[in-house]
Amino acid sequence: MKTPKNPTHQTSLQDSLQYIKGVGPKRAWLFSKLGLNTVEDGLYFLPHRFEDRTRVKKIVQLIEGEQITFTGTVIDADVVRLGRRKKLFQVLVEDDTGNILFRWFKFSETYMREKFAIGRQLIVSGKPIRGSGRALEMTHPDVEIVPDDNNEALATGSIVPVYHTTEGLHSKSLRAIMAHLVERYAGLMEEFLPAELVRRNQLMARSQAFHEAHFPPPDTAASDLKKMRTPAQFRIIFEELFLIQLGLATKKKHAGEQDTGVPFKTRGPLIQRFVRLLPFQLTGAQKKVLGHIMENLERPRPMNRLLHGDVGSGKTIVALTALLTAIDNGYQAALMAPTELLAEQHFLNIQPYCEALGLRLELLVSNLKDKNKIIEDLASGNISLVVGTHALIQKNVQFKNLGLAVIDEQHRFGVLQRDAIGKKGQAPHLLVMTATPIPRSLAMTLYGDMDISILDEMPPGRQAIRTERVDAGKRDRAYDFLNKALDQGRQAYVVCPLIEESETLDLKTAESVVEDLKNRFPKHKVQLIHGRLKKEERQTLMADFKKGGIDILVATTVIEVGIDIPNATLMVVEHAERFGLAQLHQLRGRVGRGVHASHCLLIAYPPVSESGQARLQAMVESNDGFVIAEEDLKIRGPGDFMGTRQSGLPDLKAADLIRDIKIIEITRKEAFALIDRDPHLEHPDHHQLKAALQHKLGDRLDLADIL
Ligand code: ADP
Ligand code: MG
Repeated sequence: MKTPKNPTHQTSLQDSLQYIKGVGPKRAWLFSKLGLNTVEDGLYFLPHRFEDRTRVKKIVQLIEGEQITFTGTVIDADVVRLGRRKKLFQVLVEDDTGNILFRWFKFSETYMREKFAIGRQLIVSGKPIRGSGRALEMTHPDVEIVPDDNNEALATGSIVPVYHTTEGLHSKSLRAIMAHLVERYAGLMEEFLPAELVRRNQLMARSQAFHEAHFPPPDTAASDLKKMRTPAQFRIIFEELFLIQLGLATKKKHAGEQDTGVPFKTRGPLIQRFVRLLPFQLTGAQKKVLGHIMENLERPRPMNRLLHGDVGSGKTIVALTALLTAIDNGYQAALMAPTELLAEQHFLNIQPYCEALGLRLELLVSNLKDKNKIIEDLASGNISLVVGTHALIQKNVQFKNLGLAVIDEQHRFGVLQRDAIGKKGQAPHLLVMTATPIPRSLAMTLYGDMDISILDEMPPGRQAIRTERVDAGKRDRAYDFLNKALDQGRQAYVVCPLIEESETLDLKTAESVVEDLKNRFPKHKVQLIHGRLKKEERQTLMADFKKGGIDILVATTVIEVGIDIPNATLMVVEHAERFGLAQLHQLRGRVGRGVHASHCLLIAYPPVSESGQARLQAMVESNDGFVIAEEDLKIRGPGDFMGTRQSGLPDLKAADLIRDIKIIEITRKEAFALIDRDPHLEHPDHHQLKAALQHKLGDRLDLADIL
């Protein structure tokens, strides 16, 4: 991409980074790989830590094991050979109080010789260690050459930023580039927050904030920097979160203003018959949530509600009650699931009720023979209830009068798919369900435009599940468990990981697991189920397992959600270290569904990464989906959590959904209050704010029609 240099030399935040001093085409390409293209992107590329060079030490003051910064001059530099292959590079540095040796074990000789020319002035950071000769030395210290044109921002006596580096973009050059960038462009970061908001929250001016977030004044407290709580950092985090909340508030307000939804009569004849069919009493939580839902449905505004509840908390019945309410009112209803298997499961679970009620229920997934017939009947209104996958939101699918849609397992769909099903009807009511409990901060952000209900009570008689980690070497322990469970007439799942790219390979692993189990348990029926089987075959196998015709079901992860077999009490997960935490928790939720004590065994194959250890540990320690979700967020970091990217929200540049929960709460209050006063941001004081919102989130949140 070639952007001509601006002939008038007028600077704009949309200028390409390429023309910043020190960048050029090659580095511009490296930046673009980090997602940084414009000058504005560059200003948002904040340091991930800082080095305090305000108190530079002398060599005589160095203390073993303590992080320190000092300056010195190179007095010797050479390669030292330690035998045939091994060599290291040594540099001796002195100041007016003493000298110290640096060592590198991995290096390029030419590069090092050039870098550490005798007489060079260095700024060094690192932790001294006690060398074999008892003197202090440093291995692989962080070294910066003091440049001849010693730029003020880079010098000692200041707090210097450290940026995430990438191949070809090193700390020092990044710092120099950022110094130029901030110098020339931070001034263009104009205020867009209303003055009143800035005053009330004591926010630093925007351009100053971008200046100081990169190059803090020397009296900044190191602890504030670390906590991302200097006035500059606070301001940037605040602004980022405020805009997101403002976008969500706008969406929510807009939806609430549309009186285009259909008010339903609740407790109609279908519902009354349905309730009599239920083989159990609803839990208190189910009743409470149904109360929320019915209240929404009785209004002329489309419902937009998120239901979250742990695996097994009984979401299906809640969903079905809502779906039947729509049908009671003469409307069509749809239930959308993220995978075919889950859609099939829902279909199978719901079918008996529909049969008893004399309702036609259809399943719509992509590879279906008589799909066209179903599509026709949906359009003509002959089908009142449909369960399906994203096949439901394809262009060719039309409803006659979709009144309500339920989306299960929301975290696999994004905000935009949620909007897509909404467009299949005249502002249908929407219920989104997720089995992955969501940490509060995330719920407020990802689902900030929705009302939220929580199923916080399990149906009675649920068994606590004991979870154990078993290292692969001790897998006999897992066989003992299996033996015991089978002896008592119980059934077991053994799950093997499936990585789509190497399906064949993983299938082989699963097949060998089957062989092994067959040999060990010759009297029991072992069966493999995997994603490559035809739908009918999978259904037959699942039905057989449910009836007890199969004792051990070996499955690839397709088994993940929605399967409900009370007699299965043992879940064995092979290569548990490869699974995500949410996925493990989902898998575990397949057992503990009946009256029998249940177990989950996580078989881990070393070496297990640090985050793998943390995941396994979290599983062993807690059964609570919300605790697991918080842990997951901590281990993975919010960026990665449930694909915030596909959710339609931007990647956060400065804010952190765990650390900044307080700021999320403040900005949420502020944003919703502001949108209440000025729903379309029409007041002159809000013009810049509106432009900023459109610029940053317009596309992501589909705000164009609203603002
Ligand atoms: P999830 O929230 O994971 O979708 P399900 O809706 O599949 O949970 O419910 C799990 C199991 O609990 C099902 O077998 C369902 O029939 C049963 N169940 C749901 N509600 C109750 C209840 N109030 N009392 C007893 N069992 C219930
Ligand atoms: Mg479910």
